Amino acid sequence: MNDKVCDCCGKAAVNSIQIMTGANVPLNKTRRNYLPSLTNRNAIDEGVSPGRLEELPLCASCMRTVEDNFRATILYLKSENERLNIQEAG
Ligand SMILES: [Zn+2]
Repeated sequence: MNDKVCDCCGKAAVNSIQIMTGANVPLNKTRRNYLPSLTNRNAIDEGVSPGRLEELPLCASCMRTVEDNFRATILYLKSENERLNIQEAG
């Protein structure tokens, strides 16, 4: 992994995450990255999904930011949908 560079900032990549991308996206369009589920992985392995798995190299700092934002988004959605009992301080 040492020969790879972070896809986000260009520093040395020490981590990576797997993402799923759709097929047939024009080169001049920004691709949507999906978080692959086990069902997606199995469908790709079986050749019934047009998606494909890619390794996204990340440096430690950008990896941390991706993880923090994922965590924050999940907590935000749970809170907004009243699936967390978080109360504002008075
Ligand atoms: Zn980076």
